Amino acid sequence: VGQLVTYDPDIDEIRIDSQVEILIRGGKFVQTGESAGAADEVIDCGGRMVTPGFVDPHTHPVFLQGREEEYRLRLAGAGYQEIAARGGGIRSSIEGVRRATEEELVKAVTPRMDRFLRLGTTTIEAKSGYGLSTESELKSLRVLKEVNSRNPIDIIPTFLGAHAFPPEFEDDHEGYVDLICREMIPQVAKQKIARFCDVFCEEGYFTVQESRKILETAKEFGLLPRLHADEFVDSGAAELAGEVGAFSADHLMAVSDKGIAALAENGVTAVLLPGTTFFLGSDRYAPADKLIRAGVKIALATDFNPGSCYLQSMPFIISLACLYLGLSVEEAFQAATYQSAVSLGIERRVGTIKEGMQADLILWDLEKLIEIPYYVTDLPIYRVMKAGKFVS
Ligand SMILES: [Zn+2]
Repeated sequence: VGQLVTYDPDIDEIRIDSQVEILIRGGKFVQTGESAGAADEVIDCGGRMVTPGFVDPHTHPVFLQGREEEYRLRLAGAGYQEIAARGGGIRSSIEGVRRATEEELVKAVTPRMDRFLRLGTTTIEAKSGYGLSTESELKSLRVLKEVNSRNPIDIIPTFLGAHAFPPEFEDDHEGYVDLICREMIPQVAKQKIARFCDVFCEEGYFTVQESRKILETAKEFGLLPRLHADEFVDSGAAELAGEVGAFSADHLMAVSDKGIAALAENGVTAVLLPGTTFFLGSDRYAPADKLIRAGVKIALATDFNPGSCYLQSMPFIISLACLYLGLSVEEAFQAATYQSAVSLGIERRVGTIKEGMQADLILWDLEKLIEIPYYVTDLPIYRVMKAGKFVS
């Protein structure tokens, strides 16, 4: 290896070792150092830089088709209402998922996972949330389970039945929250097909009271809380994230000072999604500097979804985080590897290159860390390894 670059939680710094060897056995890192000893297979990295694979802690990959027509309408100046009136928006994704068979969805989701891998992402969190009926939400989670078992990527599944109100509950929010709490959550828990429960807590979507009820119910059933929080307006979602002990509060473009304090006090990771702001052609990014000054840990994610962010590249997210969130290259890199693993509770397994960790790594056609954001849109990735095996 030319340069081995990884965040090291023991010293709370990015560690850079030059001209080292890595010993891998049984899909795990065994040792790194000047000479790692004999091996039955030797891979010469040719002086390349090696980093851990990226961990993407916020994606929505279970949908049938892209929404490029909606993108065209938005470019032509159409607002949310007009797009919805023309059959676009989240409703079109809901119709797609409801109508699709499990096998059709597996076929749609699989190439998305291959693309994540090619871009260096070896672990993702993936949400349901385009079914919004008990049957279609369970179907979406089964699709994730099936794809996870067939594809080398690691998928951490999240139940997001509270993504929006489906058409049949448009005028009966209480009824839908009831359905989530009495039927969906118990079924999801019983089938053990999600680790987290997420809620879109936002004005016009789920109120703080509704979100609290859903997350508290989820906790009773053993699902761990995370939250879409304060994306468009400050609705008190970050405070709720602190209150319920969420693993993460995501988006936070409109978070208040009180919300930031609640995240810091309760050790909630802020998952920032600069790709969404960029994709929507907006200029409202999350206040990363304020969050960092308050002591909140930052993770980065793509928010890959068919409507507001059709973007899967963590290297590009790192570029955006450096340019628009004001993160240093080192902060952005840590946020896309170690801290994103922390936000999923899997930092003892992935996100760093260290003895005992899963051997997930990227061989870059680059020599130094700074070159990752510097290249912006090129893909200077030579090969990607997941659990000791090359997958790209
Ligand atoms: Zn999202």
